[in-house]
Amino acid sequence: MNKPQAPSHDDSDPNSLTVEQALTRIRESITPTQGFEQLSLRSALGRVLAEDILSPINVPAYANSAMDGYAVLAEDLPAEGEAELQVTGTSLAGHPFEGTVKKGQAIRIMTGAKMPEGADTVIMQEHALREEDTLRISAGHKAGQNVRQAGEDLSTGQVVLARGKFINPAEMGLLASLGIPEVKVARRLRVAFFSTGDELASLGQALKEGQIYDSNRYTLHGMLQRLGAEIIDMGVIPDDRDAIRNAFEQASEIADVLITSGGVSVGDADYVKETLDALGQVNFWKIAMKPGRPLAFGQLGKAAFFGLPGNPVSAMATFYQIVQPSLRHMMGQAITQPMRLSLPCASKLKKRPGRADFQRGIIESDDQGQLLVRSTGHQGSHILSSMSQANCFIILPAENGGVEPGELVVVEPFDGLI
Ligand code: AMP
Ligand code: MG
Repeated sequence: MNKPQAPSHDDSDPNSLTVEQALTRIRESITPTQGFEQLSLRSALGRVLAEDILSPINVPAYANSAMDGYAVLAEDLPAEGEAELQVTGTSLAGHPFEGTVKKGQAIRIMTGAKMPEGADTVIMQEHALREEDTLRISAGHKAGQNVRQAGEDLSTGQVVLARGKFINPAEMGLLASLGIPEVKVARRLRVAFFSTGDELASLGQALKEGQIYDSNRYTLHGMLQRLGAEIIDMGVIPDDRDAIRNAFEQASEIADVLITSGGVSVGDADYVKETLDALGQVNFWKIAMKPGRPLAFGQLGKAAFFGLPGNPVSAMATFYQIVQPSLRHMMGQAITQPMRLSLPCASKLKKRPGRADFQRGIIESDDQGQLLVRSTGHQGSHILSSMSQANCFIILPAENGGVEPGELVVVEPFDGLI
């Protein structure tokens, strides 16, 4: 009789999905939430548009000057030598010149001021010589220069922002520039979460022997707040079948999404997956990523379910790589590719082939101003300070078996500028 084989030391697991496969499965199985709100522009920051925005006007609404200078007729531009023009009026921003510019005339004009009738070209003031009302210009100017044409940015009826667009400050300004005071956005997602673990103490309690403070509920709170979710914090639930079952049942009635942390691996007190199996459907529960192999996804009644691993770094890494894009999908946000860069790595990175790694890195510039990335050091999934020191994930593909200093690696910065 053959003896059973001891598990291999390889880090791959045939039952794990890649991050991409997991995201595809999630997008296939959850539909964007219905329900909208009409919000004033200032309240719409960080929300997702639930309608196409068509421009009600031309932007710019009228041709205007891009420079301080003189509005002239292109036909008056000298092909060689100089031309002499008469300055006959002024067009200021908000105070347009009322008349028509005729051949041989020029109008003093300021940036943003309406182009007067007849004129089609602006000479920068630095490129003209003015004495009293006489203006001298030399050859070399182009017809139509320094004029912002009406509708150059946006024309009436054009789709300016499509449904699914995330509203950043630029979108707020753009909507304001169209005179739009309110927009229809997807309603907030109601996201319930709790931590599991008999070892977890809540803040304000003194730590007993063998206890640690529950940090995941705080990182989760922050990550969900950033996403604009309506947050339902269900506290710490002990490693107890019935308690976990009760919490699941309660959450499924009030939330669009339930997120748990801990208790999802194969330990003796890990009841999360079996409870999801009993009360809902498990879609998958293992991902070929590190940190964060155990990650349960499924359906619990009408709610989507994500069971994050308990280790604090694993919980954050799986949230950003898997949960955040999924919640954005539920909020109706169009799929955007994460911003990833290729940079030389200044550190030696240890890795075994088998799973994609999301190591913590620091992007900085060297003495010559060249960008590079270095490791934060110890990569244990319990070292939460590494997430605070880091400003990026260093993403190493599954097959990678380690990185030598100087090699190029893919990084994903933590912060977007806007
Ligand atoms: P688990 O996934 O429940 O097996 O937990 C894995 C590791 O993460 C253990 O060392 C737990 O003590 C730790 N852990 C679990 N939940 C939390 C939490 N909410 N805050 C901080 N550490 C946690
Ligand atoms: Mg646990």
